[in-house]
Amino acid sequence: LDERGPGRIVLQVLMPTTLSEACKLLADDSSVVPIAGGTDIMVHWPSKLNEQERTYLDLTGLPELNGIEWAEHELLLGATTTYWQTISDRQVATEFPLLVDAARQVGAVQIQSRGTWGGNIANASPAADGVPVLMAYDASVELVSDGDLSELIPLSAFYTGYKSMRLSPGQLIHRIRIPRRSYDLQFFEKVGARRAQAITKVGLAVTRHGAQWRIVVNSAAATIKRCPSIERLLDSKSIIASPGDLLPTIRQDLSPIDDIRSTGSYRLHTLSRVLYYTLRDHCDWIR
Ligand SMILES: Cc1cc2nc3c(=O)[nH]c(=O)nc-3n(C[C@H](O)[C@H](O)[C@H](O)COP(=O)(O)OP(=O)(O)OC[C@H]3O[C@@H](n4cnc5c(N)ncnc54)[C@H](O)[C@@H]3O)c2cc1C
Repeated sequence: LDERGPGRIVLQVLMPTTLSEACKLLADDSSVVPIAGGTDIMVHWPSKLNEQERTYLDLTGLPELNGIEWAEHELLLGATTTYWQTISDRQVATEFPLLVDAARQVGAVQIQSRGTWGGNIANASPAADGVPVLMAYDASVELVSDGDLSELIPLSAFYTGYKSMRLSPGQLIHRIRIPRRSYDLQFFEKVGARRAQAITKVGLAVTRHGAQWRIVVNSAAATIKRCPSIERLLDSKSIIASPGDLLPTIRQDLSPIDDIRSTGSYRLHTLSRVLYYTLRDHCDWIR
């Protein structure tokens, strides 16, 4: 829009065509806001229009940021790869089925076609559905900034508090690196108010690679979290005879709050039940 008027704002959108150009634009002005699918950024537009009068950096024209690449030992998932691209990729479904399970749980087809994995990470919502499965697969986030400096951070160490993360002004998420491993157990569960189109009340991603457990929970703390106490309990193979046996350990890792979508108590008890009834079919010490 080139003229202000009632209910109108002036936006500037930068449209780089290479990653180095994008990094340079961001280095020149770190107040510029990267935008990929826009499905998180634009949610607030009708109600907080004045706050949106910014310069945006459109990432969708950058080929370096998009796509699924298979290296010998890892999957390289470009930051602007959409959920739909993941759902459509047979090899992803075979090697990393939880990526497809989570992608199918994000909004409906329209959001799955625009929303990106990098946007899900950088939006830093504790309820994000893409992040838990990436964390359960030990993904790392590759950041890039002007001058081709790149930084690799394990996703489990990326968030430092509610909506805060190790992403500095001037940095972009380039891609997500996921080690290729064989898993003998993997599942993802999203509990919401309904089966689809719901914001997560509590969610859980679990993987087991050999003796190595990863338990990741969303919507139960200020950030999405790996749960080391639960992982140790499962590793110890201590007898677990009911969902209640899991509660003391879950409380060591998580202290969920009451909010508009649920209560802390509901989140804890639901988590204990989902964990217990899912793992009981796979672990003979869970009875
Ligand atoms: C109707 C609806 C339903 C939804 N349902 C779900 C759901 O079920 N589960 C769920 O998890 N989410 C849901 N979302 C939220 C959203 O779709 C996802 O979080 C999506 O992955 C965001 O990606 P995006 O590309 O649209 O991000 P954008 O909105 O473009 O960006 C989000 C944030 O990330 C930053 N960013 C984006 N890309 C990069 C990058 N490469 N480097 C650095 N910063 C970057 C932006 O600056 C912004 O701060 C829903 C949204 C809507 C509107």
